[in-house]
This record gives sequence, structure tokens and C-alpha cells, in this order.
Amino acid sequence: MSAHYDVLQMARQQLDLAAKHLDLDSGLQRVLAEPKRQLIVHFPVVLDNGEVEVFEGYRVQHNTSRGPTKGGIRYHQDVDVHETTALAMWMTWKCAVADIPYGGAKGSVKVNVRSLSKRELEKLTRRYATEINIVIGERGDIPAPDIGTNPQVMAWIMDTISMQSGYTTPGVVTGKPIPLGGSQGRVEATGRGVIVSTAEACKRIGMNLQGAKVVVQGFGNVGSVAAWLAEKLGAIVVGVSDARGAIYNEKGLPIDQLYHKYSGMDGGIMNFKECQPVTNEELLQLPCDILLPSAISAQITAENADKIKAKLIVEGANGPTTPGADAILSDKGVLVVPDILANAGGVIVSYFEWVQDLQNFFWEEDEVNKKLERHMQRSFGQVWDTMAHYKTDMRTAAMIIGVKRVADATVMRGIFP
Ligand code: NAD
Repeated sequence: MSAHYDVLQMARQQLDLAAKHLDLDSGLQRVLAEPKRQLIVHFPVVLDNGEVEVFEGYRVQHNTSRGPTKGGIRYHQDVDVHETTALAMWMTWKCAVADIPYGGAKGSVKVNVRSLSKRELEKLTRRYATEINIVIGERGDIPAPDIGTNPQVMAWIMDTISMQSGYTTPGVVTGKPIPLGGSQGRVEATGRGVIVSTAEACKRIGMNLQGAKVVVQGFGNVGSVAAWLAEKLGAIVVGVSDARGAIYNEKGLPIDQLYHKYSGMDGGIMNFKECQPVTNEELLQLPCDILLPSAISAQITAENADKIKAKLIVEGANGPTTPGADAILSDKGVLVVPDILANAGGVIVSYFEWVQDLQNFFWEEDEVNKKLERHMQRSFGQVWDTMAHYKTDMRTAAMIIGVKRVADATVMRGIFP
């Protein structure tokens, strides 16, 4: 059994738990446990050296009951269709918890982006966009950035689909550069939402964010912004990491400097010298108050959960904590703010971007950030209250809200024909 199959199992286990609390009809649960559509594509790209390489990619749409599907595109060597399906499922619940009118989707290409030149990356992106064009569209399924993709990749996708449509379609992807119909605040939105969730959690558990020691796994789009905003709010970020390793300084790292110098560079933070290098495994176990896992899935497991010292974990990444770890953390009294709530800032501002694109009317950054904060605070409050009502953990509470909203929409619409 591959590790990625486990991620889909993990997503289904979480659904089972929520379904039990809701006493969900078994037929309805079967509908929600499966993706609506899985597209697998194989496509060639001529590399700079003239050789042809064939790549495998996916686009999975999980559920359309509440609206068009939405979800990022990931470029990573370890992706597969099972993991992509799990990520699409989580997107469905996330959009429902945030109460935005989308279902979930996810796309991915099995590739190590570090091995590609910029020209090869562009060709791969344009060909992948062409292959999945049969299922995406501004009214049907709207991709966005995820691991290994960025606003430039979104610009190439938008241009490719526009060329094939014969007119410019900014609404077909979100997370675009601002001159091409991107939204103010989108780049920072996920990290900003993680910090809004962190602040809400701190208020409720009586922890002072100012002076709290924070560790962040992953220093990409989500992790670097979360670390940067945490520092701005007075937290002391003692450890950060990326795929190549982690750095630690118990007195605090100069995050503003690291953010401006290294956040776009994979492996960049290891160039910073005034710190102690540690491994990613050690990073998770460092003494701290708050842990923000913001890299990849299944990082906090039954094997290492007991060694985690943080009292609060806020999930910037999708699926960083396994169900086995959840149980151990809950016994230890660690509060875990789940991914489908904590990292929803990205899809919330993607929704704002899409609305702005469809209306051709653009908002100021301040307006975007205020609306994001209100959305996140409202969702956090609803999940917190649901947790108390059902006497469960925050993940299950968020799942209860997400699954119920999707199930209700499915019942209201009825099963076609
Ligand atoms: P990114 O590619 O910008 O950054 C990923 C970071 O994780 C990089 O610093 C990379 O070096 C690091 N990393 C990769 N493998 C690692 C490993 N094995 N151990 C430690 N670090 C590792 O990606 P991102 O957009 O910041 O996404 C990070 C996570 O957040 C993913 O789980 C993604 O699904 C989730 N997420 C992203 C968004 C978004 O808007 N970008 C929204 C919601 C959730």
C-alpha cells in the first residue's frame, strides 16, 4: 500500500467519523466518499536537449453540489491519483466550511520542478492545461496554485485556455499575477488566514500570541507568509524549514530578512548561517508553543505525535496530521486547528479573485484583507461552537459542518435524473 493511498484512506476515515456524528444516510455517504470525475493524462514535452519526456498528470473533481469545483494544481514527483483525490475531497469540505459556493477539485503533475528549465516548465504547463481543458473552465472548474506552482504558472494556464477559446478568460484560474486579473492579497491569503486562525485559537485557549514561540515547517507560499505575519504580531519564530532541511535559533530567527531573501528559493533558508541546522523531523519536536505545519501531508504521525511539544498546531498544509496522531494529540490536550479551516484563506481570496474577474471590477487590498479576516473569524467561530455542541475535536467539528452543508445541498438538488 503506497503512502498516498493512505492519504485517501485518511480522508475517508475523517468522512466516516463526521457521517457517524450526523447519522448520515449510507447512500449519501457513498456519494460523498467518491470523486465525481478523475481525469488521468499522459502528455509529451520536448526538453531543451531535444529529447521527448512523457509526463503523467491528473485533474480530479470531487463534488459539484454547491457550485463549480475549485482546487490547486500541484507539481511534485510524489503525486498520484489517490492523493489528488484526497486533496480534492478536502477542498470540497474546505469550501463548504468557508461557506463559499464551490465544490472541491485538485490537479497535479508527477514532476520534479527543480529538474526543469523555465522554458520546459512553461511547455509542460501549457500542454497539461491543454490536456485538462476538457474539464476545466471559468464556470465549471477553476484551478489555483499549490506546491510547485505559482502566479507565473497560473498566467501560462490562463493564456493557454484563452488562446484556445479565442478570447481572454481571466476567470479560468485564480492566483494569477495582478495585471492579468489577479486579486490584491491573494499571494499572502493562505498564510494570512493561518495567522487569523492562530490568533482566534490563542484567544480561546488563553495563550498570548505576542511572545509565543512558533515553529513553521515549509517556507514556501504558505509557511513563509505565516511566519512573517506571526513575527509582525510579536511572536518569536524559532524554527523554519524547507525540503532541504530546517534551521533553529531558540532566541528567534530574523523572519523579515529570511522572508524577503529566501522565501521564493527552494532550499534557500539553509544558506542562512546564524542558526543551528536541524532535520525536518527534529524541527517538529522543537520546544515551542505553536507549530504551523505548512509543507506536505502526513508529517505528524502516530510515531512522532507524542514527541511534539507545541500546545497549539495550526495546519497550513493539507493533511499534515494523520488520524493516529490526532488521537495522541487530543489525549495530550494539544489543540489542532484543522487544514480545512486553517488554510482556507487561499481559496477564500481565490473566490474573491474569481468574483472580481467575472465582474471586471477590482477591489483594494485593504478590502480583500478585511473580508478575508471576517470570513475566517466567522468560520472559526462556527467550528468552535460545533466542537462544543458535539463534544468532539476541531477537525471532526469542521468536517461535521462541511459534510452537512454538502449533504444538504445534494439532498435539496436531488439525485439526477
Ligand atoms: P510551496 O511550493 O510554495 O512551498 C512548499 C514548501 O514546503 C517549500 O518550502 C518546500 O521546500 C517545502 N517542502 C516540500 N517538501 C518538504 C518536506 N518533505 N519537508 C519539509 N518541507 C518540505 O507550496 P505552498 O503553496 O506553500 O503549499 C504548502 C502546503 O499548503 C501544501 O500542503 C498545500 O496543499 C497547502 N495549501 C496551499 C495553499 C496555497 O494557496 N498555496 C492553500 C491551501 C493549502
